[in-house]
Amino acid sequence: MLTVEGLQAWYGSSHVLQGIDLEVARGEIVCLIGRNGAGKTTTLRSVMGLVARVRGRVVFDGADLVGRPVHARHARGLGYVPEERRIVQGLSVRDNLRLGLLAAGGRRREADAIAAMAEIFPRLAERLDQSAITMSGGEQQMLAIARALISGPRLLMLDEPSEGIMPLLVDEMFDLLRRLREEGTTILLVEQNVELALGIADRAYILDQGTVVHHDTAAALLADAAIQERYCAV
Ligand code: ATP
Repeated sequence: MLTVEGLQAWYGSSHVLQGIDLEVARGEIVCLIGRNGAGKTTTLRSVMGLVARVRGRVVFDGADLVGRPVHARHARGLGYVPEERRIVQGLSVRDNLRLGLLAAGGRRREADAIAAMAEIFPRLAERLDQSAITMSGGEQQMLAIARALISGPRLLMLDEPSEGIMPLLVDEMFDLLRRLREEGTTILLVEQNVELALGIADRAYILDQGTVVHHDTAAALLADAAIQERYCAV
């Protein structure tokens, strides 16, 4: 479904990604792991079209996306939940969801789309007309995920969804990711909590200094303490 080949990225003169190769097949949960600064976030941002200077290939459902604008990638079925969430705190939950629909071209009927999100996220259903700022960090993260999901992406990319969230909600969120996968969404996940990540993923890529240093099934990586210690300690 997604093939990334020789992906390089720069921030100014800083050469951050040095040639990333990875694949995500339809229906998989694939995880990117590695230390802080390894290039995980930059990989997701480059796939989404948010890094100005990139080279290489990002092929999604047969089309090379490099050089195409973010909205075109949304329209093709890519969804992205950034690490910093970026929900609009002064707007209601409902209006944040509307923004998600607009960002992707708004093909779904708004009322149906919001009702579908309310069904998946009962915590949001109770708060549709409440300002987003009144919600806990975990609820805001749920909103950020709902906002990305509302346009029905076929590949959902999430950056550190468990960060700063209380354990109960982290469990809820990972249950949700499993459910989304069962219902047909493919997931590319960046997660600092390696055990949690490998517990949910089918396969994982380990990044270090802007390259993929290792990839394997999640089960094999979970059993490999040496690799985890070498590349995943924060
Ligand atoms: P983290 O978990 O800390 O987010 P990461 O693996 O996601 O780590 P990236 O955020 O992709 O890593 O960062 C890769 C490198 O790029 C790091 O050296 C980082 O300092 C640098 N970097 C990230 N964002 C920028 C930016 N906007 N401008 C300049 N350098 C950046």
